[in-house]
Amino acid sequence: MKLFLDWSDYQNAGMGDAYADIPKQAGNFAKAVAVCIGSKQCETHNAKGVMCPSFRVTGNPHLSTGGRVKLLKTALNAINDDKALFDAQLVEAMNECVSCKGCKRECENEVDMALIKAEYLAQFNQKHGIPLRRKLFANLPKLARFPALKQLVTWRNRSPFIAKMTENFLGISAKAPLPIPANQTLSKTEKFTSQSADSTREVVLFVDTFNRNFNPQVVEAALNLLSTAGYQVEIASAANDSTPLCCGRTYFSNGMISEAKNEATRLLHALEPHIDAGRWIIGLESSCILSLRDEYLKLDLGDAAKKLAERVLLLEEFVAREQTAKRWTLNFKLDNERMLVHGHCHQKAVGAMKAMRKVLKTVEGLDFELIETSCCGMAGHFGLEAEHYETSQAMAQQALFPTLRAEPKVGIIANGFSCQQQIGNGGFEKPRHIAEVLYTAVS
Ligand code: SF4
Ligand code: SF4
Repeated sequence: MKLFLDWSDYQNAGMGDAYADIPKQAGNFAKAVAVCIGSKQCETHNAKGVMCPSFRVTGNPHLSTGGRVKLLKTALNAINDDKALFDAQLVEAMNECVSCKGCKRECENEVDMALIKAEYLAQFNQKHGIPLRRKLFANLPKLARFPALKQLVTWRNRSPFIAKMTENFLGISAKAPLPIPANQTLSKTEKFTSQSADSTREVVLFVDTFNRNFNPQVVEAALNLLSTAGYQVEIASAANDSTPLCCGRTYFSNGMISEAKNEATRLLHALEPHIDAGRWIIGLESSCILSLRDEYLKLDLGDAAKKLAERVLLLEEFVAREQTAKRWTLNFKLDNERMLVHGHCHQKAVGAMKAMRKVLKTVEGLDFELIETSCCGMAGHFGLEAEHYETSQAMAQQALFPTLRAEPKVGIIANGFSCQQQIGNGGFEKPRHIAEVLYTAVS
């Protein structure tokens, strides 16, 4: 089997372990699958943390991390059976994985099912062709630049007839409103104007596809916050190409690995001079930043990707770091507000919730609470897929929606674009990104 991702990190996994039960084909990919020791910790309904949302709401053992491992092992052991890898039960089990990375962080043996799913989808795409809906969702970075998209999505959201047609033809749930692009996308092209006397105060903002096209106010808030705090900010852009940069996350998570690699290569090229100059790269969307820190290392992109992974921070991580180093110059103050905070699964996966808590604690007049939730259920486009809509809602109803319902008058902080959609679609006030909250707290 020709693999799409670099699985060499697993080269020695299970070696010499008579019980590792490594499948007979697929080399290091099979070893990555076989790191599961079958403890069934991923089959718990009410545990703290994120793992495993699909098991939590269905109780189906095939839909836990370990359940997927078992099905994959059986398929990878079926050497002369071409169809085993795409057996209907396995396809369903993999499609129901929301790629939350809960298992990578919480499973005692760090099974990385989201990464395994990306390889699995790439294998599926190669064998069966890329399904149209998958192609559409993966190509969001291109579609979002299409001027008529806003009008099309608005029509679709307003018309039950068009919504039903999109469900019938594309498999996009008629019950789920689609995110509408902002009226104006980001107009700013901030560049370093002159060499600052203190290069530690030069930072680069990586603007992801989601915030660029749907939430430009978040980007503006982050820019304003950082410049008010005395940093020179440049928005990352390609030197000879006006096409906005993108991390490639939507391609990667849909198994379109060569497209993801193209985007990653463009981004690396654009960021390399900044990394060499020792600047921090700051991001706003945790799933995009996780791509830069984690998935890029599996794309065979060389040392540049390793260097980038060490220079990327989420905004909240950057502010927390600067506060600790006593370089952060601003005080935050709000007028006695209470807020509930929902962390994106990938914020939790990169350990950024500590930074959220640390920074929010420094906001005078803010009473906040981090909600103990698993995945919100939107998970990129999972909650928009007709066959997954009910599961997605069940995920939201586990803890997130009841907690928000119990305090209908308080503000909500959620940095994740898909979490914001899920919460907004659930009838709650649209959540704010921490960049917006912090900028309000210094204005
Ligand atoms: S995936 Fe992790 S938690 Fe689940 S059974 Fe395997 S080792 Fe245990
Ligand atoms: S990535 Fe999330 S949904 Fe998928 S197996 Fe791991 S914990 Fe479960």
